[in-house]
Amino acid sequence: MTYLHYQYCVSDFVIADEYKKEYFTEKIDSDYQVPFSNIKHSTNANLKSLEGTPRRIFVPKDEIIKYINGDKAFFTYNPLSDTPEIYLELSKIVIFDERSLMKFIKKYGLPYNLEQPKPGSGLFESELFRKNDKEKFLLGMDVLRFYEKLIKLKNVFKIWHAIQENDLKQLNEYREEFRFYAEYYETYSAAYIDELSIDDFAEVVFNDAGFLYKGGEIRHVLDEFKKDKNKIFHLKDKASEIQETWKQVKNSSKPKTIASAYLQLKLKDIDSGITATRFMNGKIIPAISFSNLMEVGGYQLKQAIFKNKKLEQCLNCGALFEKSHGLRKFCPPVMGNKRSTCENTYNQRLKRLRKKSESEEN
Ligand SMILES: [Zn+2]
Repeated sequence: MTYLHYQYCVSDFVIADEYKKEYFTEKIDSDYQVPFSNIKHSTNANLKSLEGTPRRIFVPKDEIIKYINGDKAFFTYNPLSDTPEIYLELSKIVIFDERSLMKFIKKYGLPYNLEQPKPGSGLFESELFRKNDKEKFLLGMDVLRFYEKLIKLKNVFKIWHAIQENDLKQLNEYREEFRFYAEYYETYSAAYIDELSIDDFAEVVFNDAGFLYKGGEIRHVLDEFKKDKNKIFHLKDKASEIQETWKQVKNSSKPKTIASAYLQLKLKDIDSGITATRFMNGKIIPAISFSNLMEVGGYQLKQAIFKNKKLEQCLNCGALFEKSHGLRKFCPPVMGNKRSTCENTYNQRLKRLRKKSESEEN
């Protein structure tokens, strides 16, 4: 089977030598309350307040000027060929752990490009240069917005990994989660209608179904539906992909199949770049364009799912990596290195152990 696979990425990503951080103070802007409680809810993080955690990470002014003027050589890399497993690196970042985030940024640069320069100022895309596709330099990142994206990527990764490992306990949990969301309306619709009038309920369903304008024929369709409760429920079912998908698989005896259907719905949560073109050797060729590393990770993760890639655990650190050929037992080498750091560490530890046991024998 062939899959839509793009060999070329339009732009290289740039890494700065220095990144600065701005921390939350005791006065937390109201913009951050909702993302904070959402993130806490989905990670079970035991963090009482944002105070003292980084709000924004950014490239300092002097670095940007040096880049624009060409005063300094910046490290750049191609995210498809130089970092083929960046989705695994991203999924290692621990939410609210500044050290693990900075470790990633030092190696790969900022993973995300939405920033809020000042609290209350609104979110902006922060990359240089948007209209020149040759290089992408991400200048600033709002940490909470990044975490929101990261949680979705990690979640997709976890479901996929549970399917790969045939982890029945996890797979059953996903089945229950899937059922909960799919049957939510059936379970609560009676109470819902009690609260609202049938007219209001029809309006809500029409909105959910994506009929955002109420002019023209849709106005008349809505009036028809307001007369008949069953019609509204029918529309509700038809418009909901989660309900439709659940109906397809709910009687399946294979936990993997049910989890795969659920995973497919979750894949919609992650961005994975857009198709583009590149001019090479006198010809126009297909390529892919990414705005940030989250899109690169999303693209790679989808490719890994399509190709049913197998993951293996590193002998040294326990992290997961893609099994490419049978011989590899360690994390891949860090970009720019030939040897794997984990392999080196592991071999040195073995050597030390051997020496130690030899001297004990003597
Ligand atoms: Zn490792």
